[in-house]
Amino acid sequence: MTYTSIKSNGDFPYKLRVAHLYGDIMNTYGDNGNILMMKYVGEKLGTEMIVDIVSLGDDFKADDYDLIFFGGGQDYEQFIVSEDLPTKARELTKFIENNGAMLAICGGFQLLGKFYIEANGRKINGISAMNHYTLNQKDNRFIGDIEIHNDEFDETYYGFENHQGRTFLADTQKPLGRVITGQGNNNEDGTEGMNYKNVFGSYFHGPILSRNARLAYRIVSSAFHNKYPNLAIPDFKTILADEEKGQKIRDSKRKVEK
Ligand code: GLN
Repeated sequence: MTYTSIKSNGDFPYKLRVAHLYGDIMNTYGDNGNILMMKYVGEKLGTEMIVDIVSLGDDFKADDYDLIFFGGGQDYEQFIVSEDLPTKARELTKFIENNGAMLAICGGFQLLGKFYIEANGRKINGISAMNHYTLNQKDNRFIGDIEIHNDEFDETYYGFENHQGRTFLADTQKPLGRVITGQGNNNEDGTEGMNYKNVFGSYFHGPILSRNARLAYRIVSSAFHNKYPNLAIPDFKTILADEEKGQKIRDSKRKVEK
């Protein structure tokens, strides 16, 4: 049964409902920290954030939610999720096509596409909400620090990748960024992650959003705009400048330490 895992305390003028897809299963590598960052940014926008775990056997209705997070998982969990996901495919596709805001990491990102080939060669179906697909690779994983640049937003994102799948995007999808260092979607075409409408996919593990506050702002504010189209919101610098400053210092220290 769907249940609320975390919600804001106190009085807020606005409200956003977040679906944390399979949050009880697809939660390896600290991806769930993204939920905390979504909540943090939402509250800075004056918004009460209510997060529901929507998991195996649960009903999912696109209209009940303003924002979705779908984390990564290992092949074992991913297979279990892939068998339930078709029950939610129609509503998820509707959410995506209606410009819903969503972040999907690694295994979650893979399952939104056409198919994923496990490390052992078994092919599992995605829900084809978008047309990317993921091949496997022999005795290798892409692991390590990664830096990408999104040319459209002129933003740099830092993260850590850990995946065996090699993802190839469709023409309708833009990458989340161009790889500066690291391996990205497939270590061939220089792309990392995906952006389609307000959906963002990435191989960055751990809380990508707390390390990349501009991306967090982009995703949460697009959910806010969808729900309250006529309201102006504080700009990034007004609410998150300090976080970005701290982040820049940490990122430059990491570079020196390497
Ligand atoms: N099991 C998938 C892979 O290895 C996804 C991994 C993940 O979510 N980290 O590519």
